[in-house]
Parts: sequence; C-alpha cells; structure tokens
Amino acid sequence: MKILIKHADYFDGRTDALKRDAKIVVEDNLVTEITYDAVSEEGFDRVLDAQGYTVLPGLVDNHVHTAMHLGNGARFDETIVHGVRNAKRFLYNGFTTVRDAGGVTYGIKKAIDDGVIEGPRMFPSNAFITQTCGHGDFRESRGEVRLADGVYSSPTLRSGESYVADGAAEVLKGVREQLFLGASQIKIMAGGGASSDYDPILTTQFTLEEMQAAVNAASDYGTYVMAHLYTKESMMRAAKAGVRSFEHATELDDELAKVMADQGIFICVCPNPSKRKNEALPFFANRPKKPGAERIHESRKHQHEFILKYDLPLLFGTDYMETIVGGLEDAQRKDWFSFEERFGSYRSLRAATGTAHELIKLTTYQNPYPAGKIGVLEEGAFADILIVRGNPLEQVSVLAETDNLKLIMKDGKLYKDEL
Ligand SMILES: [Zn+2]
Repeated sequence: MKILIKHADYFDGRTDALKRDAKIVVEDNLVTEITYDAVSEEGFDRVLDAQGYTVLPGLVDNHVHTAMHLGNGARFDETIVHGVRNAKRFLYNGFTTVRDAGGVTYGIKKAIDDGVIEGPRMFPSNAFITQTCGHGDFRESRGEVRLADGVYSSPTLRSGESYVADGAAEVLKGVREQLFLGASQIKIMAGGGASSDYDPILTTQFTLEEMQAAVNAASDYGTYVMAHLYTKESMMRAAKAGVRSFEHATELDDELAKVMADQGIFICVCPNPSKRKNEALPFFANRPKKPGAERIHESRKHQHEFILKYDLPLLFGTDYMETIVGGLEDAQRKDWFSFEERFGSYRSLRAATGTAHELIKLTTYQNPYPAGKIGVLEEGAFADILIVRGNPLEQVSVLAETDNLKLIMKDGKLYKDEL
C-alpha cells in the first residue's frame, strides 16, 4: 500500500513552526519520504489532499491505565472488557501510542498488535511494583492477609495489575517478572497516593536500596524505571536511585528541578486528576481527603513554573483510568485544555510527540516497536499520522474535539477517514 499526502502543512514533533506544503510518502507502515519536489501521483494507491488542514505525528499519551480496576471488587474479566474499550478510545482520541503506567496489559497489547482488536501501540509496564502498605497495595480490607504461598486473596492483587515486593530481592524478582511479560519500562510506586487506602499521601515508599534494585534490574535489560511520586523527599531519593521518569511530581523547587535537569529526568505531570475524577467518578468523590492532600494540591499550582524555568523534558500524560463506574469518556481529551493553559500549545504538543520520542529511546531492547520512529514525522517514522482541522501549534486544545480529527492513521492503516 502506497499513500501520498500532498499539500501537507505538518508538525515534525520537534520544531516550533509548521513545515509548509510538503509531500509525505507512506509505503506500507512507514514514512519513506518527505519532499518539496514534484511527485507524480501515479503508482500511489491513495492520494490524500491535506490542503487547509494540519498534519501531525500520531500522539502519545505517556501515562494511562488501560486495564486497572482500583480495588472496586471487579472480576478480572470485567477489567479486561473495559480495558479493550479503553484501548479503542485512545486510538480514536488521536493517541496512536500509549505508555501504560500499570495494569493488566499483556493480553490487550498482544491482541492489538495481532490485529484482533483496535487500539494504539502500547508500551506496557504490566504490574506496578509496590511495597507492602504502599500505593499499589490494593487489598480491600485490613483483614486480608498474605496466603502461605505468598499471594493475596484480593482480586486486584491476584489479577496481576500490582506486584507487592519488600526488600531488594523481591523487587528484583518483581521487575524481572514484568520484563518476562514484555514490559518496555518498569513502574514503581515511590510515594503515597490518593486512590489507595493504607498509605498516607506524604510517605516516601521503597528504600533507596529497593529503588536501586528496580533500576538495576531494568537497566540490565536496557530500559528504565518510571515512578509515581508527589513529594520532594521521594523525588530526591528516586533521582539518587536513577529513576528516569517522574509521574505526577508536583512538589518541585529550585534544588530538585536542577537535579532533574542535570540527570535528564522526564516529568509526566498528569493534570489534576483528582479534581477531574471527583467530578466524574463516585469512587473518588466518596473518598475522604487524606491528610497532606492539600499540600500536594498547592504544590501543583507552581509545578509548571519550575518545568518551564529549567526546561525539564515534559511528557503529556493523562493518568486515564476507568473503573466499572465509567463516566470518563472524554477525560483524556479534556486534559489538552489544562496543558495549553500551563505550558502553551507548542510545549504541550511536543510533550505528546517529540519528547515521547526521546523517552522511547530509553527502552532499547525492550522497545516493542523497534522498526520505526514514534512521535516524530520524518523519514523512517512509523506511518502513525493525524490530519486535523485547525492548527494545534497555535491552539493545542483543538485536539480535544474529536470532530477536528479528520484522519487517523496507525501503522499505515486508516482508522478514521473523513478528509
Ligand atoms: Zn497513574
């Protein structure tokens, strides 16, 4: 299959201005040529005229939970059914790639890659690694105990979305179990969170030795660790351990931001998820606020200032998750408004394209899609391409409206074609 996109005003994923009136040649699943020379339309199976639109590399959401049931007592099969629906949503929201930040993803990812169901490319973490009483210890009550064989009776923990590990040896094992399932990076819970019952939100989780064990096991397989954390204490420890991607990471200050800039630590901010979820999800709305939550909330207000001041490598991430109560259909798209407000259109768009491209380089042997480039529009990139109404470089929130996504191509295949 050979496709020509003509009259393409396109964003390459890196530069802050559109390139004008190019011709983009797609052969099978790759972009093979981008030129300003005359190209004969003969020999193409399809010619797409992008006149009046903007052409983008397919977007990357760097923090989703495709299939995770948050301890609401759902059975494993319910979680998977919802995960299949979420995967399809991601793709039709314009995200041709997602980095899954923890959950039950192996089968869903394989089904997408095999063409059984529709969905984005997926960089899976598989289970997140958590300490006992940590953010990923999703036991449903304090009455639940670890069984003699080391597993828990909780359906959430039995589903494989979370792996409880204490001590370096157990962390090594947990990380290697995820690598066995094809994890492209490892997710650890390095501090307290809002959606869990037993860990105060301001806690630091995992000792330095435990974090280093995770980093060592990952880096021996050519990849990196991403960590859930909010507080400065947990971030300083994670930086020392060699964690490369900070998730949420609200409590920034000059000292910490300098460390992050020096070490090239990526930051995935995930805009105010608790607020959004409070609007949408009874699960969150009904939870009592944890002590310390206000401090985290306050720090979020200044987070963007440090990211901009130190030009930290910003990743677009939404922390999309859905429990069986539903109601989050447009949550992923709504976050464009928050990004636009805090970082401007160019930085926000780069956070979902070119910076994700740089992040993916950290996965080396564990990259599930090594045959092409992701997050950029250039020769040798996968044919993951959007054609949209409006100019997202000037107003990135046009991407929040699915009607503006006129064409969605992933791996050379057209999923939406309304040009
Ligand atoms: Zn998350």
